[in-house]
Amino acid sequence: MTWYEATARPAPHRPPLAGDLAADVCVVGGGYAGLSAALHCAQAGLKTVLLEAAAVGAGASGRNGGQIHSGQRQDQDWLEKRFGADEARRFWALAEEAKALVRRLIADHAIDCDLKDGLIHAAWKPREAPALEAHAAHMRAVYGYETTWLDRAETARWIASTRYHGAVFDPGGGHLHALSYARGLAAAAERAGAAIHEATRALAVAPAPGGAAVRTASGTVTAQHVILACDTWLGDLDPAAGARALPINSFIGVTAPLGEAAARALIPSGAAVADTKFAVDYYRVTADHRLLFGGGETYTARYPRDLKAFVARPIHRVFPQLKDVAIDYAWGGPVGVTISRMPHFGWNGPSILFAHGFSGQGVATATLAGQLLAEAARGTLERFDVFARVKHRAFPGGRLLRAPLLALGMAWYALKDRL
Ligand SMILES: Cc1cc2nc3c(=O)[nH]c(=O)nc-3n(C[C@H](O)[C@H](O)[C@H](O)COP(=O)(O)OP(=O)(O)OC[C@H]3O[C@@H](n4cnc5c(N)ncnc54)[C@H](O)[C@@H]3O)c2cc1C
Repeated sequence: MTWYEATARPAPHRPPLAGDLAADVCVVGGGYAGLSAALHCAQAGLKTVLLEAAAVGAGASGRNGGQIHSGQRQDQDWLEKRFGADEARRFWALAEEAKALVRRLIADHAIDCDLKDGLIHAAWKPREAPALEAHAAHMRAVYGYETTWLDRAETARWIASTRYHGAVFDPGGGHLHALSYARGLAAAAERAGAAIHEATRALAVAPAPGGAAVRTASGTVTAQHVILACDTWLGDLDPAAGARALPINSFIGVTAPLGEAAARALIPSGAAVADTKFAVDYYRVTADHRLLFGGGETYTARYPRDLKAFVARPIHRVFPQLKDVAIDYAWGGPVGVTISRMPHFGWNGPSILFAHGFSGQGVATATLAGQLLAEAARGTLERFDVFARVKHRAFPGGRLLRAPLLALGMAWYALKDRL
């Protein structure tokens, strides 16, 4: 069991699909992207049915670090070089909208998910500190986005660790309880009129008269539009799109309760922290005064045998003072990454659309993706197309070699973190 499952708001039982249905929109996948799509479609008055293979939040959305980041997964200067200043501004505006959307949905639907403001981006290596500071200056000068630069000594006051060489405090970032947020979105979608069927795996999607049909073991949903929001599993239903992202496993450990004072001493601001490593460490203190720490990745399907020991290593590297504290929970989850680290949005024919590959930054971006998918299903493409214009290459190697080649490449970059 994850810490999220142990502490989340309870969820109702949602029966599987039974029989054939007709709808305006059929959404496949009950993570942030699918739930937000279903909510926005239902709010627009569309008859909406969501099919989830397991349970709401069973994928990455119920087991992630809960961190809300500013910007896209790629920095603005990368986006400016790759797409030009105007398009980079559009990406920035959408990223700001994504954070605002998360906060708005939580407020509008009274989602009880421990939302807290603030995120610290910390430099792991000495040479990364000036680069972080320069990036913060660029964001202030070009986008008017204010953050606070913390030098090495100041950083040690914000994070009780001697590991970092400087940091940027971003008041616009934040964190939340990942599974309670997903469950809150599901409840909001249902109140807006969407039907959610759990334990209902989509087996195939195909064009059908007037739209497309989604076949499951217990019935078929025929709809004008089908929204595929199944992230790392997209390849099962659309192999060509699925080949544009591959899963890597990220792992999270949660300590035993530290007590309020000791927990606050680790990160007095209560902000989340993410560092500059390729295999990033990301962590925060929870509402019940534990440290929730994501760190360590694997690039094959296999999980480490002793997960608690695996997640303890990065925790103790940053906070050696926690060496004697038990790890109560440890789990992993699949992060869908694209080659460019930009999410992949698109169409498979006129009635089937998808968004996936949020590359480790899906709390805000997948929520926004759901809204943009709903807009696109209703014929408004302007914002959807900002993402859909990004060209994506399939990972090389074909079906058999793709995963091992990715593993090799990722392992090389992760090794560079240690050099
Ligand atoms: C360990 C971990 C830590 C992370 N930390 C962060 C973080 O701190 N901040 C951040 O921004 N992002 C983070 N991410 C990434 C973020 O969680 C994801 O980008 C986001 O949740 C993706 O949402 P989604 O709705 O696209 O996919 P998912 O949440 O994976 O949902 C897809 C759903 O589709 C269902 N499904 C799949 N196939 C089918 C089918 N055939 N039929 C029916 N249903 C199907 C699955 O069961 C699943 O529930 C993290 C991810 C992981 C794994």
